[in-house]
Amino acid sequence: MVTIIIPVLNEADVIKITANKVTEAFLRENIDFELLFIDDGSTDNTWQIIEEIVQQSEYILGIKLSRNFGKEGAIFAGLDHSQKDCVIIMDGDLQHPPEVAVQMYKLWVTGNYQIVEAVKKERQRESAIQRLGAKFYYSALKRLSGIALENASDFKLLDKQVVDVLTKMPERHTFFRAMTGWTGYSTMYLPYDVADRVGGTTKFNAMKLFKLAIDSIASYSSLPLHGVTLIGVVFCVFSVIMAAHTLYRFLLGHSLEGFTTVILLLLLIGGILMLSLGTIGIYIAKIYNEIKSRPRYIIAKKAENSYSGK
Ligand code: UDP
Ligand code: MG
Repeated sequence: MVTIIIPVLNEADVIKITANKVTEAFLRENIDFELLFIDDGSTDNTWQIIEEIVQQSEYILGIKLSRNFGKEGAIFAGLDHSQKDCVIIMDGDLQHPPEVAVQMYKLWVTGNYQIVEAVKKERQRESAIQRLGAKFYYSALKRLSGIALENASDFKLLDKQVVDVLTKMPERHTFFRAMTGWTGYSTMYLPYDVADRVGGTTKFNAMKLFKLAIDSIASYSSLPLHGVTLIGVVFCVFSVIMAAHTLYRFLLGHSLEGFTTVILLLLLIGGILMLSLGTIGIYIAKIYNEIKSRPRYIIAKKAENSYSGK
């Protein structure tokens, strides 16, 4: 009935605990489920552990990607491989409590919702800089694209209908968190408390988060490009005024002053030009990457237990 998709990168410390906790929670409620671990190119012994637990449990399956494709790629590998009536995506570090996953399933069973989104009651513990960065990013995203994602996470349940739509979307560079809302299916929001990691450390450093932020804004908004045009217009108006002023001074014979102004203007225009080119560059890079239409992920191996074929 339900596939629980768990993308993992170097989670050797926690994977067994997670598998046990999730299995327990779903067995307790007599829910028909399978647990699909996607190894997103781990370099520790995560895959060995997955192979081991797959042999020990009839509920667990594993897919190993050929390298690290990022959490997005891993999630889509999971979505493509689920044939059940719904899927639940959760993290491998138990920050997404299995009990909440069970609750999501119960909401889906009522038949009223095709998407159940878990919403963080509070953000997890993080440094002041991270908090500030997140706040800035979410408000920029909201202003530029109208998508409100604050307190959203990748912890979601999706009906098969939604999964079919998502996996058929042609874009190669996905932003899962926003794509589900974009589909417009009836959604239930379920508040939850983010737990602490059971072990290991976060796999997202500042650089990875920054790239994700730029990427997602460029995916969902073309406003920055219009911003470039707007700055151009402002500067045109400004230059007409400055031209008139300069000519006037020239005719009066005071035209030697104003060296500082020239330098300041040069610096300002140079800076804005480069920023604008960079902004356009981000979009061109996105177009280029999409047009290559390479696969979102590559599968190296699968682990299925001897019970499969049931
Ligand atoms: N993850 C992944 N590929 C990546 C980065 C992370 O599959 O490139 C997985 C990771 O193993 C974990 C989940 O995505 O199961 C969430 O990552 P993490 O807990 O490190 O993120 P945080 O909770 O700190 O935002
Ligand atoms: Mg985590």
